[in-house]
Formats: sequence, C-alpha cells, structure tokens
Amino acid sequence: DSDEDEAIRMSWPARPPVVTVMGHVDHGKTTLMDALRRRAPGNKMTTGSSKNNIKSGKKKGAPANVGDIAGTEAGGITQVITAFQVALEGSDAAVTFLDTPGHAAFRNMRESGLEAADVIVLVVAAEDGLAAQSLEILQFYKSLLEQNVDISLVVAMNKIDQPGINLEECQYRLENQLLQEGILVEGMPQTDGDFFGSPVPLYPISAKEGTGLDDMIEGLILQSEIMDLRAPKEEPASGILLDARIEKGLGVVVDAIVRSGDLKKGDVVVSGEHKGRVRILKSTQGNTQVSEASASQPVRIMGFDSLPTAGDLFRVVESEEIAQELVEKAAAIKDTAENKPAMM
Ligand code: GDP
Repeated sequence: DSDEDEAIRMSWPARPPVVTVMGHVDHGKTTLMDALRRRAPGNKMTTGSSKNNIKSGKKKGAPANVGDIAGTEAGGITQVITAFQVALEGSDAAVTFLDTPGHAAFRNMRESGLEAADVIVLVVAAEDGLAAQSLEILQFYKSLLEQNVDISLVVAMNKIDQPGINLEECQYRLENQLLQEGILVEGMPQTDGDFFGSPVPLYPISAKEGTGLDDMIEGLILQSEIMDLRAPKEEPASGILLDARIEKGLGVVVDAIVRSGDLKKGDVVVSGEHKGRVRILKSTQGNTQVSEASASQPVRIMGFDSLPTAGDLFRVVESEEIAQELVEKAAAIKDTAENKPAMM
C-alpha cells in the first residue's frame, strides 16, 4: 500500500469488530452465544435457547436460514437472529457477533477477498482442552493467516465454574496445547520458534454463569483497536448477506452485515443476479426501523425483488438502470457457466 492509500484509510472512522464464535461440539458455543445475545440491547429471547430452536427446526450446522418461523412447538414465533451487537456499559464501543455457522462467515473469501469476520473466538472447555474440532478451527485460522487475511484469534476457556476444577492447571495445559499448534498465548514467557500471527489473548469464562464475559468483550474491543479496523463512510455501501428468506406477508427478507459505507433506506442494491430497493431497513435486534446503518452493523433489509444467496456480497448502486445492467450481466455469466459442456 502506498502512503497515499494509508492516508486515505486513516481518514476513515473506526468500526466495531465482527466476531465469529467457533468451538468443538459441547464446549459451550451455544451457551455463550445465548449469554451474549442477552446483553444485546433490544433483544428479547423468544422460545428458549437458540439451540432448542435449531433443534426444532433444522439440524445444527445447517445454513443460517433455520428460523423461518420455527417455534411452532412453543406456539410462538422465533426470530432468526443472524447477528447482533453488544455494547460495553458506559461506552459506545460495540462488538458485532455473527450467529451463522462458523464457516459461513468466510464463505465468500476466496471469490471476493472480503470476509465477514475480523476475529475468531475459539471456545474451549477448560477440562477438555483442545479437541478434534478445535484443532480444525486452528488449522482454518492458520490458513487464513497464510492467505494474508487480517484475522485475529481469541481463546475463551469455558466452564470455569465446574466444581473441583483446577483453573491454573487447565490454563497451563491449554496454553501448552496451543503452543504445540504454533500459537503463543499472551503473557506466556516468549519461547523460541516461529508462531502463527500475534500472541492470542485467553479469557477464562463461564458462559453458563456469565463470568468473565465483560473482560472478554473488552478484550475484543481492544483487539479491534490493535487491528485498527476502519471503513469509509462517504461511499456507496457494500456488505455481505448472512441470510435470505421469504417471509409471509413481507416478501424477501435479507439479513446482512454492512462492511463499507452507510446503507440507507431507499438505496438501490444489487447482489449477483438479484436487485431491489431498500424499502424497509431494520436492526436485526429489537425489530426497530433505522434510517441508515454503518460499517459492521447487522441489518435486516426488505425490498429485494428476488431471493439472493446467503454468503454473497451486495452493493449499493446509483440507479435502477445500473442495477438492471449488472443483474443482466450476472445472469448472462451464470447462463454461460451452466451451459458449458460438462467435459472440458
Ligand atoms: P455447543 O455444542 O458448543 O453449542 O455447547 P452447548 O452450549 O450446548 O453446551 C454443552 C453443554 O455444556 C450444555 O449442557 C451446557 O449447559 C454446558 N455448558 C456450557 N457452558 C457451560 C459453562 O460455562 N459451565 C458449565 N458448567 N456448563 C456449561
């Protein structure tokens, strides 16, 4: 990057970090997301934990469009929450948590070089330490680093409330397991050797009792300051679609995360062969309408003419004519790809 590019970047305002929580099954990801979601202003928990909702809908790990009005069992309507923001008390600093299956947060990376998340929180049950899926996630994190993706890792050592647990021992073991994977935990005596990325912070937490969550959120904000996350404001918005579905009486409902620019009501949007105009813009939490949304903010958009694909990018264009042109181009490209002979 030239000095000039850097000067332009420095003129952009800071944006909140976008965080994806991942972990081995049963290490407490769902419990943690529920605890965090409870801290998101405007969020009312509907029919119990997201896990129960998912179980009553589709199976865990299914794409994020699980909640298309699931909660029939409880007789209520369960809102899909694909992302939410948590603010620190007494500060405007916020963290955006993605509640889509981990890898979906990175689905588009290869095609676009733009990924949805800035930080991975790896949840590890203190007594279990790193397990098979934890190792896969670490592999994934390392592969992102190798592709020069600007991503950080934070470790949440969970279930510290378990009776009889020896915290120091668990932490010591986990730190050494991470070291074996080439990851240095902050505060460990510097050992010789090559490490992946920067030393990672480790937060002892209890998702169940809420212990340590404030420190972790504070740590995530600090992490974003170190990463110096910024996004331009004065340019047409763009972002990533987290979920797209058709809701009765509402038509196409899209959840998205703004990555750049300010998305406004009335904007013309394009995503692949799909377009529309932002007719209603809402916060993903609390169901309130907003007139605009800035970078890292999760939003619900109504006004797409057809159903776009979750994981795809969207962007605002100047006019409906331009949108039409782009959509036709995208459709033509898709057509050629589909009509290609199978053997080439
Ligand atoms: P997931 O598969 O990673 O989403 O794990 P869950 O959040 O469903 O948790 C698996 C089990 O661990 C459940 O029985 C939780 O109640 C329990 N659990 C999760 N977090 C904690 C915690 O902080 N402390 C204790 N004691 N149990 C926890």
